[in-house]
Amino acid sequence: MIGPLTSDQFFAEAQRLIPGGVNSPVRAFRGVGGRPFFVARAEGARLFDVDGRSYIDYVMSWGPLILGHAPKRVRDALQAVLDRGWSYGAPTPGEVELAREIARAYPSIELVRLTSSGTEAAMAALRVARGFTRRERIVKFEGCYHGHGDSLLVKAGSGGATFGVPDSLGVPADLARLTVTLPFNDLDGARSVLDALGREIAAVIVEPVVGNMGVVPPRPGFLAGLRELTARHGALLIFDEVITGFRLGYGGAQALYGIAPDLTVLGKIIGGGLPVGAYGGRREIMAQVSPLGGIYQAGTLSGNPLAVAAGLETLAALREPGVYETLEARAAAVENGLLEAARAARVPVTLNRVGSMLTCFFTEGPVVDWASAKAADTRRYAAFFHGMLEGGVYLAPSQYEAAFLSLAHGDDDLAATAAAARASFRTL
Ligand SMILES: *Cc1c(COP(=O)(O)O)cnc(C)c1O
Repeated sequence: MIGPLTSDQFFAEAQRLIPGGVNSPVRAFRGVGGRPFFVARAEGARLFDVDGRSYIDYVMSWGPLILGHAPKRVRDALQAVLDRGWSYGAPTPGEVELAREIARAYPSIELVRLTSSGTEAAMAALRVARGFTRRERIVKFEGCYHGHGDSLLVKAGSGGATFGVPDSLGVPADLARLTVTLPFNDLDGARSVLDALGREIAAVIVEPVVGNMGVVPPRPGFLAGLRELTARHGALLIFDEVITGFRLGYGGAQALYGIAPDLTVLGKIIGGGLPVGAYGGRREIMAQVSPLGGIYQAGTLSGNPLAVAAGLETLAALREPGVYETLEARAAAVENGLLEAARAARVPVTLNRVGSMLTCFFTEGPVVDWASAKAADTRRYAAFFHGMLEGGVYLAPSQYEAAFLSLAHGDDDLAATAAAARASFRTL
């Protein structure tokens, strides 16, 4: 019998059995070099690895854990479900309660369907848009991620805003051609595409605040412009609020910016860290979904009682007064800590932050779309990342991700983060 294994030993074994040693690519640290640590447990704002080290966590399971790791109230809610059994494949009261809460918080959502992941929900939303409009083309924006569905793993084709080409082996070119890809924040581009192809476009899908090329906020008027253009051309506007939903305020980005999309995709926070997704929107559109209508979508574990209970308890905590003000203040403190450390070290950075999500881009910026995000010095980010890790702070292992604050990040964590940032920037 050998002693407990180290992260490096687990990773070696993982690579023998799992592609790249991970079950989702960015976890492999390819964006920053080195090897991932293996997590033993987590609590509050902290991750503990199998090597006996601990980190202040700003990945937070990539967004869902807005209350922090393993909060007692969610644990208790999960325990109550465990005592009753955790999957029936038949309706449960919790699903109705979660649907009611989502519809109450998002007035644009009249009918909502739960899935097991954000990917699934985004794929279903596209199918619904295509089925409802009887059109096939979709428009998406470069740098926005909507899960790994075939129609959504598409990049811009050569020759400007024309037809997409697959962004992954295995995505049929004929399908990718139906996806038009444009730069984020490019309202003129969207206008030309809709003017030219308007009657063929089923939907424009967008992360209203992008989290997946790092944080990139919409320019004033961009979202309103998309709303107006899609309405004029009879295309549906889909907000992918898998990250922003219940994070940028209880009503998500659509409440923050005052725009009502036709369909919304949710995930992450609404499952409190358990597998979940949701899509919903106007009644006349969602009434086309099976068994009411001819658009098929289903799931063995959809509306799973554990995920629903974790989601409901998380949302209940987010309805307490002052929660979003607290998140805002803590995220602002992290922003200031990073900016001061960068200034002191004379390292040019651009810090994009909306509420409790932020990215420190290693470029003079501004960062407004994928082209400007790509100007970031990813080697320098990698050095900064490893410096922070040394200092006990876990940021996303890629320049092109957001840092997420939770209600568990306390003043000590914020001070320790600023200190780690000063030390890390000094070495760059
Ligand atoms: C995470 C994410 C998804 C995909 O959700 P999964 O649960 O990982 O399938 C979709 N859209 C956005 C904006 C996301 O951040």
